[in-house]
Amino acid sequence: MPPPSVVKSQSKLADSAAEKTILKASCLCGAPNHEVTLSTSDLPLKGYMCHCTSCRRMTGAQCLTVVFCPEYYQPAQSVLDKMTAYVFTKRITQYFCTTCGCQMLARCLEDGDDPNSTVTWDVATGTLERIEDIVDWQGHEHLQDTLDGGFADFLTEINGKKLERWPAHYGKHEQVPPGWTSTSRSEVEASPSDKLHCTCRCGGVEFYVTRPSARSALAEKYWPESPPLDISNEQLPPESETFYMRDNRTKFLAGLCSCNSCRLAAGVEITTWAFIPAFQITQDKEGKIPWSGDFGTLRKYESSPGCYRYFCSRCGAIVFYDADGREFLKDVAVGLVDAPEGSRAESWFGWRTRRLGYRDDDIPRAESFVLAIEKGLREWEASRPGADLSGGSRSGGAL
Ligand SMILES: [Zn+2]
Ligand SMILES: [Zn+2]
Ligand SMILES: [Zn+2]
Repeated sequence: MPPPSVVKSQSKLADSAAEKTILKASCLCGAPNHEVTLSTSDLPLKGYMCHCTSCRRMTGAQCLTVVFCPEYYQPAQSVLDKMTAYVFTKRITQYFCTTCGCQMLARCLEDGDDPNSTVTWDVATGTLERIEDIVDWQGHEHLQDTLDGGFADFLTEINGKKLERWPAHYGKHEQVPPGWTSTSRSEVEASPSDKLHCTCRCGGVEFYVTRPSARSALAEKYWPESPPLDISNEQLPPESETFYMRDNRTKFLAGLCSCNSCRLAAGVEITTWAFIPAFQITQDKEGKIPWSGDFGTLRKYESSPGCYRYFCSRCGAIVFYDADGREFLKDVAVGLVDAPEGSRAESWFGWRTRRLGYRDDDIPRAESFVLAIEKGLREWEASRPGADLSGGSRSGGAL
């Protein structure tokens, strides 16, 4: 989070005579919907993207996207009563919708050691009905935690304005360039683990994923069983029918989604999902306890008939998405992965860069942001050795 000094620069009191702008803020279920009333002169609000491990684990996304409100904005208690409070640090308490899990607000104490110090609030931008001309994006922080630059490499500038890229707290140390990777990353690349550990921030939801293989291509045929270990007699479906796999079936497909439903379920601008056969997800490291929609602090929310979203009821992280008729496959929130090569987990996932899922949903509220990501994805793909520009052939699930 940016230092309190960033917040201080904004006006302390709303001028009652000043022109007002009302920002509508919503989640997927609508229970704690509210309005943020600001003096128009305080717009645009400065927007920040935090990539720290805690924010990724708490949202399930690649970063938290927030704006800081002027000191005069204080949400009504009746709104907060419909949310669950999660103590993030001694300075910051997060509030997410109890029903659908959407991260909505954060209460920030100016001094974490002084409970009587000034309280300001930040709003998760994914809840805002519009961000075009409302949010002035400043940049990325805590990139050090990503090891690989994470989502920041997909979004380097907006409307020609270069986004700042800070390794730790905003404005501290030297900025890092696009394509930067941590030196602690290369040491672990040589020994990729065969299990991918995933966890939410509070640890209430933890699970493991096994490496993709040719067996993964048979996930649908054998559901709810696992494909046999020896598949030498099996006819594998053509690669075009296993849209959830990439790179000659050595990786799972991962992609960015900007649909309204995902945005309002997470509270962040962009969600990131990996498509993983259910038989490859287990609750334990040994691989004995199979996937279930009900373990740990997981809570299920039916976002539309036959579509299910799962989130942590204690810290609010989005975790899984699945749908009736497609039970063999689970969408896993990529922010939860604990891959030693970094937050994009590129030894596991092949990223879809040719398009942003459901971009037309987001254009009316966030056109500049959407166009910037599309440009960023193209440039990131082109900058990689052995760039694969073929993209996925078919859409799937939440993406
Ligand atoms: Zn809700
Ligand atoms: Zn953070
Ligand atoms: Zn949790």
